[in-house]
Amino acid sequence: MKVLISSCVVGNKVRWNGASKEFPFIKEWAEDNGIKLVPVCPENELLGTPRPSIRLIQVGDEVHAHAGKNEISEQLRQTSKNILERHPDAVGFIGIANSPTCGVSAGVKKRGSTMKGIFHLAADFPTCEVNQLKSEQGRQMFLQRVAKWQGGE
Ligand code: SF4
Repeated sequence: MKVLISSCVVGNKVRWNGASKEFPFIKEWAEDNGIKLVPVCPENELLGTPRPSIRLIQVGDEVHAHAGKNEISEQLRQTSKNILERHPDAVGFIGIANSPTCGVSAGVKKRGSTMKGIFHLAADFPTCEVNQLKSEQGRQMFLQRVAKWQGGE
């Protein structure tokens, strides 16, 4: 089965500053469980690398994404949707903490609480962060969520 994953998590140098943040255990776990990991990076696809770091800010009832001085919320949502449309057979997404795009609990300035990152919000299948897969229990839980989602499709 196909699971999308933040590209930086599998070692690609697509973070805003040109770095990666690799979690080597994830490839072995995927292989052992018949999972094909497909790297995606909405921010790199939209803005290239390197780029300004993106921040989420509460503005009235809305949360805006800013890259430097530019407001890019709609473009980032659309890029996320485009990626998802290219992978209609994907059954899950593994992101990474503290990213406004790929984090489950992304910080939002002037909001006082976190929110799901933009790519998680765009996906209709189970999503998680790679940290949640460090434990056997976390890995099992994610696989169970995926199986349940597949069963209810
Ligand atoms: S947008 Fe996601 S995949 Fe791309 S660098 Fe940021 S956390 Fe990694």
